[in-house]
Amino acid sequence: MRIVLFGPPGAGKGTQAGLLSEKYGAAHISTGDILREAVANGTEVGLLAKSYMEKGELVPDEVVIAIARAKLESIGEQGFLLDGFPRTIAQAQSLDAALKDIAKPLEAVVNLKVDNDELVRRLSGRRVCPACGEPYHVDSKKSAIEGKCDKCGGDLVHRADDQPEAIMNRLNVYDKQTSPLLGYYEQSGILKNIQAAGDIKEVFRTIVAALGQ
Ligand code: ADP
Ligand code: ADP
Ligand code: ZN
Repeated sequence: MRIVLFGPPGAGKGTQAGLLSEKYGAAHISTGDILREAVANGTEVGLLAKSYMEKGELVPDEVVIAIARAKLESIGEQGFLLDGFPRTIAQAQSLDAALKDIAKPLEAVVNLKVDNDELVRRLSGRRVCPACGEPYHVDSKKSAIEGKCDKCGGDLVHRADDQPEAIMNRLNVYDKQTSPLLGYYEQSGILKNIQAAGDIKEVFRTIVAALGQ
């Protein structure tokens, strides 16, 4: 399995990638999670990425491309689910080139379609576990114990970029810089459009059916 989970912020990429990786045993690769870890650890990459992430801007291509390549190399033969990468045409071209080198092209780009009102609702109520990356929602996906991660017991947080101003900026950045990728993948014939407004399980079933596995 070599798949990209695509869609605007809040569409459910991380949630569905988690479920798909459990079902298929593929590696869940989230550039957002890797970048947040770098920020938390105060690494060189983290120091560079921090101000972009807080404002909801994209981190420069060369930084994100290097991170994604290193991660893909580290998983070796395992399948993967890319979550939040690529986000620009330059990133997509670099990914295609890297996968072509090892003769392992992408099999599908799963595009999660959700309208903007619902995206704002999902993002503003999102809580995440910084330790393992698991996403929760104050209404639609509560943890068993309030404020604690079901998977690892970590303390859930409200991301700084899930506040109103950064949310609006991220949705604009998606429209301008990321949505053009839909045309790019449509041309390559691997785009699968998924109506992702339903609940988490329903969306999961739709994706599994669309992948035909
Ligand atoms: P993304 O990775 O695309 O930004 P997430 O997977 O983090 O999105 O989901 C965003 C928020 O919406 C989270 O709070 C998550 O719990 C919630 N969520 C995800 N999928 C659904 C769904 N189908 N219905 C309702 N809420 C959802
Ligand atoms: P979302 O829930 O919006 O999909 P992510 O966790 O994927 O959020 O990303 C959070 C932030 O990390 C982005 O707003 C951006 O600053 C940075 N980021 C993550 N992936 C990329 C990427 N592929 N290219 C550029 N910046 C990225
Ligand atoms: Zn956790």
